[in-house]
Amino acid sequence: VCFQRKIWEGKTKIVFSTKDPNLIILKFKDDITALDGKKRDVIPGKGRINASVSSKLFTELERRGILTHFVKMVNSTSMLVRKLDMIKIEIVCRNYVAGQFARRFPMFKEGAKLSRPLVEFYLKSDELGDPLLTEDHAILLGLTSRGEALRAKALTLRVNEALTTFMAERNLKLVDFKLELGRDGSGKLRVGDELDADCMRLWDSETGNVLDKDVYRKGASVAEVQKIYGELYRRVVGG
Ligand code: ADP
Ligand code: UDP
Repeated sequence: VCFQRKIWEGKTKIVFSTKDPNLIILKFKDDITALDGKKRDVIPGKGRINASVSSKLFTELERRGILTHFVKMVNSTSMLVRKLDMIKIEIVCRNYVAGQFARRFPMFKEGAKLSRPLVEFYLKSDELGDPLLTEDHAILLGLTSRGEALRAKALTLRVNEALTTFMAERNLKLVDFKLELGRDGSGKLRVGDELDADCMRLWDSETGNVLDKDVYRKGASVAEVQKIYGELYRRVVGG
């Protein structure tokens, strides 16, 4: 497989075309960003870690019969994937109270388990600060249809079950995560983008230690962030 040309450079990944119009390559950069891109740094080795963690988790989903874009790794930082027609929604699934949800609903205690997993839609737009969407908003904005929104939610809950089990086996609590879904050539929904410490919250089940990007959001140094990403790599890929 060869990289053809750069078709897009995002905050943390570069997208390349390949000779096959149905396949693209996602190259994970060492960059880390927060506050919709307003805070940024470089964490040496992060691209390789996120690529390996994502590849491991996509493989785990596929093993359980969940459709994803993943094809294979092409080098230590790059993943060959099916090109999808991406839905411009960030789907968040929450199992425990944290982040924005904790800030919006102070009647829920931070860290408390929700009575059932919660699925939320956010508009993927840094300029607008990713506003929360109701299903009717998403349909009105032309992002999805009623039927597809239902299928997206069901798929997200299946991913949640698979990842929760996988993480529990490694003594990790899957607090919440963000998914990006897309449509393949036959219109079927597949899990796209990435699955790693940048887009999920993971807490050690025993110590409660944070093993995700929150350490960076809360001001940890480059060396500390590097250490946490390295530990997650060992727990998820190494174990
Ligand atoms: P951002 O700056 O939007 O966070 P990234 O740096 O993550 O972007 O770049 C990756 C881009 O590739 C995102 O816009 C994402 O939606 C898109 N993408 C991810 N997986 C696929 C796929 N399978 N097909 C097409 N586009 C994809
Ligand atoms: N998330 C993400 N990209 C975003 C916003 C959130 O990957 O642009 C992830 C985040 O890492 C967390 C989950 O989605 O695992 C829920 O984040 P939340 O809505 O609580 O927002 P935050 O507190 O991070 O602003």
